[in-house]
Amino acid sequence: MNIHEYQAKELFANFGVAVAKGAAAKDVSEFEAAVASLNGSHVVVKSQIHAGGRGKGVFKDGFKGGVHYAKREEAVEIAKKMFGNILVTKQTGEAGKEVKTIYFTEGCDIAKEYYLSIVMDRASGKDVVIASCEGGMEIEKVAEETPEKIKKVFINPETGIQPYQVRELAFFLGFGEKELQKKFAALIKGLYKLYASKDCSLVEVNPLILTPQNDIIALDAKVSFDDNALFRHPDILEYRDLSEENPLEIEAKKFELNYIKLDGNIACMVNGAGLAMATMDIIKYYGGDPANFLDVGGGATEEAITAAFKILLSDENTKGILINIFGGIMRCDVIAAGVVAAVKNVGGLKIPLVVRLEGTNVEQGNKILAESGIDITTASDLDDAAQKIVKIVSK
Ligand code: GDP
Ligand code: MN
Repeated sequence: MNIHEYQAKELFANFGVAVAKGAAAKDVSEFEAAVASLNGSHVVVKSQIHAGGRGKGVFKDGFKGGVHYAKREEAVEIAKKMFGNILVTKQTGEAGKEVKTIYFTEGCDIAKEYYLSIVMDRASGKDVVIASCEGGMEIEKVAEETPEKIKKVFINPETGIQPYQVRELAFFLGFGEKELQKKFAALIKGLYKLYASKDCSLVEVNPLILTPQNDIIALDAKVSFDDNALFRHPDILEYRDLSEENPLEIEAKKFELNYIKLDGNIACMVNGAGLAMATMDIIKYYGGDPANFLDVGGGATEEAITAAFKILLSDENTKGILINIFGGIMRCDVIAAGVVAAVKNVGGLKIPLVVRLEGTNVEQGNKILAESGIDITTASDLDDAAQKIVKIVSK
């Protein structure tokens, strides 16, 4: 789960991480008061959407920049131009995202910008702090072009971040001087404590800044959480903004389906994450494009299968469906019954369907499908299935 910058900064503040003072507004009527609550000659007006690259983003009506450093007298006017407008950034895709919240912050002077993040490193089984003096830049680009400018410090989650690791990072970033070291230590310890105690999958600060007054401040904040751990953080769930999430993915979550929408046009219904990946790969291999990742899992009920199939059908990009089931724990007849129920429910199937069933109760499954009257192309194996659906869809 992702949250907004203003929410992430509220968490930062709770964990003793220095941020500029700010005020969020969800309606134009709140803008004046929000700006009035802040000090200083300059205010930063920040569009709140679940995507990065806002500063360089462009609104659908041509207005440039989802983040503006403005004179305080001009802040409300700029906020009005952003509010309700659709912001397109590198991360939103062409469709963009509507700005429904504006975050005003006190403007900071910047002496230098840095990059800092914490993520889990699967290869080492540790957490990793990634730091760079190239702040405000795309970190992927820095990693590719100048990897020596990035420092990674691996943290054993059992012991947490150690003082020597804090110093290692401080010196790398040029915060060796005593006062700076202290400020940086408070910041990184706070970030790590947040990351660990709230089951974050990512804590990212880009940019982290040093001000001319020698303060170290998190100027931007991105925090993501491990969905599987959200049940133990009701306070974090309060931050959830469903309007930022894909409605099909929300529906899928209700039935505990592992569904991720993608950009292609071949919908896939598969059991098992590995088989789902292999299915997507082989569709690509034969020149097609998967519309989604969908693992219905082992314990899915007929009701869940029905919901899954309806989700696939309601994606308007879907031009064809491939069902690839290797029935182990999941029974082929349950899948078949779910598919038939879903097709009836939506008043008939208007797009081609290729089915490959194998494993537990495959005969019963095939029988249900054959007697359903639905127009189905059957396939003998994964290879055959992928070739057939790609051929049908590309016609
Ligand atoms: P992003 O583009 O979505 O990553 O949004 P950021 O919050 O990182 O803001 C974009 C850029 O605006 C930052 O990289 C800064 O260069 C600039 N910016 C943001 N806040 C301030 C501020 O308080 N003072 C100054 N001078 N620049 C700021
Ligand atoms: Mn940023």
